[in-house]
Amino acid sequence: NRQIRLAARPVGEVKPEDWEHGSEPITEPGPGRFAGRTRVISLDPAMRGWLDDRPSYLPPVGIGEVMRAGSVVEVTASNHPGFQPGDHVVGTFGVQEYVVSDGRGAMKIDTSLAPPSTYLGALGMPGMTAYFGLLDVGALQDGETVVVSGAAGAVGSIAGQIAKARGCRVVGIAGGPEKCAMLTGELGFDAAIDYRAEDVRKALREHAPDGIDVYFDNVGGDILDAALTRLAMHARVVICGAISQYNNATPVHGPSNYLSLLVRRARMEGFVVFDYAKRYAEAAQEISALIGAGRVKVKEHVVRGTVDDFPAALQMLFRGENVGKLVLELA
Ligand code: NDP
Repeated sequence: NRQIRLAARPVGEVKPEDWEHGSEPITEPGPGRFAGRTRVISLDPAMRGWLDDRPSYLPPVGIGEVMRAGSVVEVTASNHPGFQPGDHVVGTFGVQEYVVSDGRGAMKIDTSLAPPSTYLGALGMPGMTAYFGLLDVGALQDGETVVVSGAAGAVGSIAGQIAKARGCRVVGIAGGPEKCAMLTGELGFDAAIDYRAEDVRKALREHAPDGIDVYFDNVGGDILDAALTRLAMHARVVICGAISQYNNATPVHGPSNYLSLLVRRARMEGFVVFDYAKRYAEAAQEISALIGAGRVKVKEHVVRGTVDDFPAALQMLFRGENVGKLVLELA
C-alpha cells in the first residue's frame, strides 16, 4: 500500500523533501470495517493550510502521518453492513492506494449518475462550497452583480454558473487568456478579467459599472483590495479562501481598504463548508438539476498517475495549472 506522508512542515512553497513516499502491507478489514482501493484523490488548496502547525478548523496533519485528502475508493472487501464490494465510496481516506475504514464520514455514491471525480468536485466539497457560500453567506438575490475570483477553478466555476442560472450579471477573475475565454464562452459568464495581464480595478469599473453586490473571494491579496473599491451599497463579501496568501512565509497581506465596508454599508464574512454538512443533499440536488439542464458545465482537470504524483499535482493549484476541479486518478 503506497502512501504519501508528511515528512516536514513546509516553509513557504511545499518542497519535494517535505513529503515521504513509503508503503506498508495491505491489511484485511476487521469486524465492522471495509477495505477499498483508491480510484481518485482530490487536490485542494486547503491542504496547504493543513500542513501548518497552527490552530484552524481542522487539526494539522502530523509529521509522519498519511496526508489527509478526500478521495473515492472502490470497496474490495467488507464486514460493514452499509458497504458492499463494488460500491464506490467518498470520504477523507488520505493519499494512499488502499484504505480500511469503519465507514465514519464515508458516503456511498452513485457512479451511474456521475463519474467518481465529480463527487470530489461539482457534487462534492467544492460544489457545496460554491452553493452555500454564494446563496447563504452571500445571500445572493436574482439579478445582482456578482464577481468571482479564482473563477476558472473548482469552486469559482460552479459559483459563477449558479449565479448565472439565477439571472445575475457575473464577472470572473482568472489567470490567462485561455481561462478567461472559457469563462465567457463555454461557461456563459458576462465578462472575465485576466488578473495577470489587466489592471483589475480598471476592469472592474468597466465590467461592474453599478458596483459589486456579491464578491465571492477565493484568492485574497490584491484582488480582494481591488474588489473592495467597487462595492455597491449593502454588498456582501464572501471570504471563501485566499490562495494567493497560503504559501506566504510572512504574515497574510490583509485588505488595505476595508473601510469601504463602512462607506458602502457592506459586510464581509468567512465560512467553512463543513458547517453545512446537514444540508449537502439540498445543494447536491440543485447542482445536479442544473447540470442535467445544461446550465452548469462541469470542468475537471484529471491527472493520471500514482500516489507518488500527488506532490507535483498539488503544486499545480498554486501555479494556476488546473482548469476546474483538479484530481489525481490512480491507474
Ligand atoms: P481551484 O480549482 O480554484 O485552484 C486554485 C486556483 O487558484 C488556481 O487554478 C489559480 O487559478 C488560482 N491561484 C493560484 N495562485 C493564485 C494567486 N497567487 N493569485 C490568484 N489566484 C491564484 O481551487 P478550489 O476551487 O478547490 O479552491 C478555491 C478557493 O476556495 C481556495 O482558496 C480554497 O481554499 C477555498 N475553499 C474554501 C472552502 C471553505 O469551506 N471556505 C472549501 C473549499 C475551498 P488562476 O490561473 O486563475 O490563477
